[in-house]
Amino acid sequence: MTRRGRGPAPHESGASAGAGQVAGLIDLDDAGSTPILQQYRAVKAEFPDALVLARLGDFYEMFGADATDAAPILGVTLTGRGFGAAGRLPMCGVPHHASSGYIRKLLDAGRRVALWDQVGEVTAGRLVRREVTRVLSPGTASDADYLDETRVARCIALHSSGGRTGVAAFDAAGGELLLTETAGGLDAAALREECDRLDVAELLVADDGIEVPPSLLSGVVRTMLPPAFFDASRARERLLAAAGAQTMEVLGIEGIDRAVCAAGAVLAYCERARLTLSTGFVHVRRRSESATMRLDAPTRRNLELVAPLGEGGTSLATLLDRTRTPMGARLLRARLLEPLTEPLLIMARHDAVAALVDAPRARETLGEALAAVRDLERLVARTVQRTATPRDLGVIRRACAALPAVQEIVATMESGELTSAAARCVAPDGLGTRLRELLVDDPPATARDGGCVRPGADARLDELIAAGAGGREWIAALEDNERRRSGIGSLKVGYNRVFGYYIEVSNTHRDTVPVDYVRKQTLVGAERYITAELKERETTVLGARDRALAREHEILDELTAEVAGHAAALIDAARAVAVIDVHRALACVADDEQWVRPMVDSSGVLDVDQSRHPLVERALGAGRFVANDCRLDAAERIVVLTGPNMAGKSTYLRQVALIALLAQVGSFVPAARARIGVCDRIFTRIGAQDDLSGGLSTFMVEMAETAAILRQATSRSLVILDEIGRGTSTYDGMSIAQAVIEHLHEAPHLNCRTLFATHFHELTTLADQLPRVYNARVDVLEQGDGITFLHRIVPGGADRSYGIHVARLAGVPAGVLVRARQLLAELERERPVVGGAAVPDQLSLSIAAPVEHPVVAELAQLDIEGLTPIAALNKLAELRERASP
Ligand code: ADP
Repeated sequence: MTRRGRGPAPHESGASAGAGQVAGLIDLDDAGSTPILQQYRAVKAEFPDALVLARLGDFYEMFGADATDAAPILGVTLTGRGFGAAGRLPMCGVPHHASSGYIRKLLDAGRRVALWDQVGEVTAGRLVRREVTRVLSPGTASDADYLDETRVARCIALHSSGGRTGVAAFDAAGGELLLTETAGGLDAAALREECDRLDVAELLVADDGIEVPPSLLSGVVRTMLPPAFFDASRARERLLAAAGAQTMEVLGIEGIDRAVCAAGAVLAYCERARLTLSTGFVHVRRRSESATMRLDAPTRRNLELVAPLGEGGTSLATLLDRTRTPMGARLLRARLLEPLTEPLLIMARHDAVAALVDAPRARETLGEALAAVRDLERLVARTVQRTATPRDLGVIRRACAALPAVQEIVATMESGELTSAAARCVAPDGLGTRLRELLVDDPPATARDGGCVRPGADARLDELIAAGAGGREWIAALEDNERRRSGIGSLKVGYNRVFGYYIEVSNTHRDTVPVDYVRKQTLVGAERYITAELKERETTVLGARDRALAREHEILDELTAEVAGHAAALIDAARAVAVIDVHRALACVADDEQWVRPMVDSSGVLDVDQSRHPLVERALGAGRFVANDCRLDAAERIVVLTGPNMAGKSTYLRQVALIALLAQVGSFVPAARARIGVCDRIFTRIGAQDDLSGGLSTFMVEMAETAAILRQATSRSLVILDEIGRGTSTYDGMSIAQAVIEHLHEAPHLNCRTLFATHFHELTTLADQLPRVYNARVDVLEQGDGITFLHRIVPGGADRSYGIHVARLAGVPAGVLVRARQLLAELERERPVVGGAAVPDQLSLSIAAPVEHPVVAELAQLDIEGLTPIAALNKLAELRERASP
């Protein structure tokens, strides 16, 4: 499900023209001026870029261009209201009680929605007071109903000046405001990488003429804001107010003024969207670039960190996600995109996973306790926004009750990460008790019909409920009592909407009614009376329900405010739960999949035994994956890996990168043993993917990615290069590939750990000239003219490409294969093998001895004269049989 999509800019809101063009339909401005339409127009003028949903009774309605625009997205019928000769004003509506699903559709389509709600009393004959209570957009829709549970939807603002760019990213559903500054302007790679891993749902930029490259967060909704939103001094004020701090130093964000300007814009925008940004909810954090590994988009994609490459595939995030809370799932995803680079911090995470791996029983009970915490973070955010339902409060109550259990299980484990998280798993004093005392056991999903507050919890409410009930009983008994008192057997008690409750006596008994009866209405054969006490009871009965409901809402509002008052502590507990949840999930994976704890240091070594690719292993099924070793150290920095296509080169490259990444994320790894000298960055250049949307050719993309690697890698990086130079002619490709290897080997700031896979077996000669290059190949078993892939990585280079063998395996018809062999043999005759170094200016295309099809060899030697016609035919049939693939 995608949350992204580009919405129309306010001025291009295409539907406004549409409504006017359809015959008979009119635009909002041309419709009559009923009071409601007049107000609607005023709201539209204030929020021109939003679809305005007007609450009319049980529906949210849209009019005019908004209706024509929204109806197809919502899948509802476009209706209209006639305005005489002027025409019909388009309208559409959705039921209020089911509105969240519809609103989510609008947000998913990149639209902004203003909720114009009824806020005053509904009085017959008078227009109810309405206000815009929320403006929702993809980045400010804080409510869990509108969001994907497993990922954060951030609203970010950028502010660039003087060669640096400030980034502020706000999670409206969790209150976290991240600030950072990146080197370079709006087109810098560092900014792109930062933005890419923030799970951005909406990008705010100043409308100041400075262009933000369209490729930056392409597909994410963009909102232009007046430059004043980024004003430095207003930004400081806003930020300090929201965070409840006196100085920037307290928040740890001094010296990043551009990020502060960006934060000011985000906060101002959220205020305008009517989000409550209370102190205690907004939690400011500075992101430090140096403590984490930067990952570029190709690497994230190639390693399938959060999305699989092919349809039906599995991403690493999905494989690892054994979390039991949505907060845990979100944190796991964030951690995968942000591996650490500091060995001590990484080891602390490994300690936590190890402690949980060693305690399978505790892990089990911990899982149950965690599940009960549910999405505490977002539920608390709902209380801050005052949108929490009674049921939400019930879930928060359960979470509070589960926190001590979570704490108890991990508090004594041998891991600083776990014990310090456990210490934060505390519900605010007395809050759980308050929620237990006030709420019924199973609170309803809405407060509309009451029944949320526990009987006995509030004397006033109990009184109102009892009064209503007592009054109803009294009235029910009234008929019998009055018959007895008056001696009139035919006396009746009734009710109508105009007079309320009454006592009816037929005309025959008119003169014997008790003296306290007051005549109210005369009918043809009867009189209707009331008594003072009856009217009093009536008021109690009719008023009691309304007053009980009102009192109940009051109690719920107070309770919600009380929970919101503890937002900071509760959200902190929720984040601690997320940390524990992620460690537990990784421990479950480690245990189930037989992963080991990696050793992590600053050595620059990468040494793994029996490593596996977790996703390919999963796809192949148990026992079918061939594990392989990998060793890169000071003496052997670059591996040139050769082998036929489909042998497993790419898989091997990715698995080594994945193991380094998993280790630095804090996970155990799929290997028998692993030592990882931390990588400051992992670069991957794998496969050929056309960037069709960007209008770049395959080769151009390949070269752009290679260029980025050569420019940005350092001696502490891990570089994975698969089939460089494939996208162009053989000579071109081979020359580029060789020059790249030479550069990685020779450039003083590089000399980085590199795995280089190629089907150009000619590149194996490089190992003879460059001391830190060594050759490895994927072993294949040759049987006759067929080959079997062994998927085993062994030292040494391949001496040929096996292209025709692979073509045969793939089912290329026999005739084509025979012809290919002929051509290969011819080429080899024309261009005999040149020995020695394959440097670019004396490049060799060394091709191994021709591999003749045995059928051809046999045919050449066949003694045709010595065969009978029948034997010749039989031989022909046999040869054809063998020649077929
Ligand atoms: P190459 O990059 O050499 O063309 P791939 O790495 O794409 O080859 O691997 C091709 C297929 O071989 C994979 O999809 C997988 O099914 C299988 N494979 C690769 N490596 C292994 C392995 N170590 N053990 C078992 N099967 C493997």
